Amino acid sequence: MNLELQGVGVSRGIAIGKAHILFHNKPDVEEYLVDEKDIEKEVQRLQAANEQATIQLRSIRNTIPANAPADVSSFIDTHLLMLQASSLTQVPMDMIRNRRCNAEWALQLQRDALINVFDEMDDPYLRTRRDDVDHVVNRILRFLVNEHARADDVTEGKLKGRIIIAEDLTPADTMLMQHQGIAAFVTEHGGATSHTTILARSLGIPAIVGVGSLRRYIQDNETLIIDGETGTLIAGSDKATLLEYSQRRTDFKLHIASLSRYKSGPSQTRDGIDITLQANADLAEDITAISNTIAQGVGLYRTEFLYMNRATPPEEEEQLAAYRKVVEGMNNQPVTIRTFDLGADKTVDGGRNLNQATTNPALGLRAIRLCLKQPAMFRTQLRAILRASAFGKIKIMFPMISTIHELQQAKHQLELCKKELIQEGLEFDHHIETGAMIEIPASAICAEMFAQQTDFLSIGTNDLIQYTLAIDRIDDHVNYLYNPLHPAVLNLIKMTLDAGKKHNIPVSMCGEMAGDPRFTRLLLALGLDNFSMHPNVLLEIKQIINETDLNKLPENSLDILTISDALEAELLVEEINSSVH
Ligand code: PEP
Ligand code: MG
Repeated sequence: MNLELQGVGVSRGIAIGKAHILFHNKPDVEEYLVDEKDIEKEVQRLQAANEQATIQLRSIRNTIPANAPADVSSFIDTHLLMLQASSLTQVPMDMIRNRRCNAEWALQLQRDALINVFDEMDDPYLRTRRDDVDHVVNRILRFLVNEHARADDVTEGKLKGRIIIAEDLTPADTMLMQHQGIAAFVTEHGGATSHTTILARSLGIPAIVGVGSLRRYIQDNETLIIDGETGTLIAGSDKATLLEYSQRRTDFKLHIASLSRYKSGPSQTRDGIDITLQANADLAEDITAISNTIAQGVGLYRTEFLYMNRATPPEEEEQLAAYRKVVEGMNNQPVTIRTFDLGADKTVDGGRNLNQATTNPALGLRAIRLCLKQPAMFRTQLRAILRASAFGKIKIMFPMISTIHELQQAKHQLELCKKELIQEGLEFDHHIETGAMIEIPASAICAEMFAQQTDFLSIGTNDLIQYTLAIDRIDDHVNYLYNPLHPAVLNLIKMTLDAGKKHNIPVSMCGEMAGDPRFTRLLLALGLDNFSMHPNVLLEIKQIINETDLNKLPENSLDILTISDALEAELLVEEINSSVH
């Protein structure tokens, strides 16, 4: 009988294989008092364990093939840097000396203190960095308590074709296991944005995280099926299920193999329309990975992450360094930097917002409204962006614009910054382009007005849908109403695209809809020719574009703008997607 367990699918692909259970109890650590005369010996014991952990990690790093994606080695480098950090060397050594406690205990205390700091962070990406601290400390602890079982497990060569079942995995373990040819992994812990899962995606290993009680339900060596897209794990499957998934595994492999064809060549419809494909970035660190994709630049760089989880906003020099890293990393491809979109769900300083408490934060002092209310902070950012424009092609984008006046005020602040920089003799691109995000229905309806006052527009469907349909985009209770195919949403998109065409300015889309393969043809039919998305989906979207002939789309494609019934709209999209070209 099939036993189905559900987790979060974090790396796509189907795997069928035997379970290899890799649960290791965390090293048992107890505190004991160290004799005064043995204190320095205890300190040396900690240093030796740290050195052994470093040697082990370096040897894993040396096994990374030269053609592996850049983020593979960068994750292991992060752990190597952590091993050298004073918070994991000097601080526990001081603890041993001051408390006269054993090395394991000092290390564990310090780990808990660091993890607490991360746990209090509001930003899910940074919160997952706690896992890195945990992984690094466990590696040292294993040497301290002399327990190498886990490392041996993954180097013995028994893992080919196995599905790893673990409590959690480090990026280094994942690397080693990939060399061993594992089929997939499933963990009890871990988030969708943890380094290990990002790594799994880069290495193409199907993976599921967050499946509780794995230990209770899964036996070593039993046959499992993993669907890394839906997050489903099936144990004890019957023959029919095995056959079905085996067929799906073949189909998926063929699909992925067919995508590699799109790593080169133009993204162009069959009838010769060039389509620009760009990537969205949340952190400057994302750029290494993005620069290795087919992205023709960054269509949206969300700078607000620079401001989160800290007491004071970043200074101009810190911002300049981040923006410079992004633009230089993109090797002359354009980068659209969006000014900070703080407020609503994106808070600063551990959850306290820069705006006042309000009952409707999404309708409150958010994005450009906050920028204009805090001109000094806004200008610091604008100066940093302008200065970064001396190092590559940058465009500036203002979020959540609702009135022409806001746009004019934002541009006025930019002009003030330009004057300052000229007076200070600092270089910048004097012709830097500015654009507005269209993510409020009012702006889409008035898109023509904005099109006459900006160099470009970019449609933010995440907010456009939220505001058009009055659905809080982070409220689970109403997300069943979040419908990109609602005719109101589609008409607003069309109005914006038409406004751009009429006034001869480019219009892109950088909301999630742009990276959803279900909507690619529909968006092409509506006239979109610039898509910006999560870098993982670029090839898939390109494939659809290159296999589309705009002249051969069903004649009734644009009827979608007047279909009120959700099911009917979905059927028409299916018809558009299945039309053969
Ligand atoms: C959007 O609203 O579609 C968008 C891209 O911006 P964000 O998701 O950052 O609000
Ligand atoms: Mg938005």
